[in-house]
Amino acid sequence: MKTIVKRLPKVELHLHLDGSVRISTVAELLNISYEEAYLQMVCDKNTHSLTDYLMKFDLPIKVMQTKENLKRVTKELLEDLKKEHVIYVELRFAPSLHTKEGLSQKQVVEAIVEEIREEEGITCNLILCCLRNHLENEKNFETVEVAKSFLNHGVVALDLAGDESKYPTQLFQKLFEKARELGVPYTIHAGEASSYHSILEALRFGAVRIGHGIATIENQGLMNTLKEDKILLEVCPQSNVDTDIVTEKKKHPIKQLFSNVPISINTDNRTVSNITLTEEYEDLMKLFDFTIDDIKTCNLNAIKSSFLNEQEKEKLKKQIEEEYYDATYRS
Ligand SMILES: [Zn+2]
Repeated sequence: MKTIVKRLPKVELHLHLDGSVRISTVAELLNISYEEAYLQMVCDKNTHSLTDYLMKFDLPIKVMQTKENLKRVTKELLEDLKKEHVIYVELRFAPSLHTKEGLSQKQVVEAIVEEIREEEGITCNLILCCLRNHLENEKNFETVEVAKSFLNHGVVALDLAGDESKYPTQLFQKLFEKARELGVPYTIHAGEASSYHSILEALRFGAVRIGHGIATIENQGLMNTLKEDKILLEVCPQSNVDTDIVTEKKKHPIKQLFSNVPISINTDNRTVSNITLTEEYEDLMKLFDFTIDDIKTCNLNAIKSSFLNEQEKEKLKKQIEEEYYDATYRS
């Protein structure tokens, strides 16, 4: 089973670059031991909340301050994704976090766009994250402008990330009004560390997808709305365990969500959560009896709700259909 799952073509829509940097790279660039880097970058029994979880990003962000390093970590992540046959990824990061050594947000995005263009064997587009802790919001408005200037040239959307438990979605209304005015689409992290009201807020702002959205489970009416309006939840099961939103993986409501609303499966942060997409799929098959066909449905959902154009979607859909057929009937 392991090899079959690894060989299946995969689409990942919710993946943070800074949470998915190779530990060995950070150790090398900061001249510290692998063990030390591991300790500071990967969740453990002392990680009990989204706030604790977010501290695991400090080291990678420290090294992601030059064009050279930004390109390197992007290239390495794309190489890792290709090893498990991820064919399309929407990769996200907050450009404002990478300006500590003089790069502008625009230069940060430029460097990463250059890198994703060069990589063959995988298609990658970028989602730029605004941050909840920028209460003065100036940096966020700049991120929106930068997203607009690269829109459909490597960047496809915006996001709002950060500590939802401390900075509620409603504080960012103006930001999304601006994005809407400029015609930049967005997904919003919501209903992860907050109740379903946060998701309602995100929908009111015009989000076309929801990051996590696990709190949807609290409200049948909301589940119906998401289904009718075809709003996808970017579900990241292991991440929800690591932030203590669910106490153990087998208690995750993913099966119920899958039966009620369109979802896609994601890792969120491969390094912080120490997981691959293959392992996420295997866990779902083991713990919740997901079939290969269910996994295929999640991938087709992902393509439908991706920020690609119709022609690109059609091409990926064809590849998914063919290769899942081969995996199911010819092996
Ligand atoms: Zn996330």
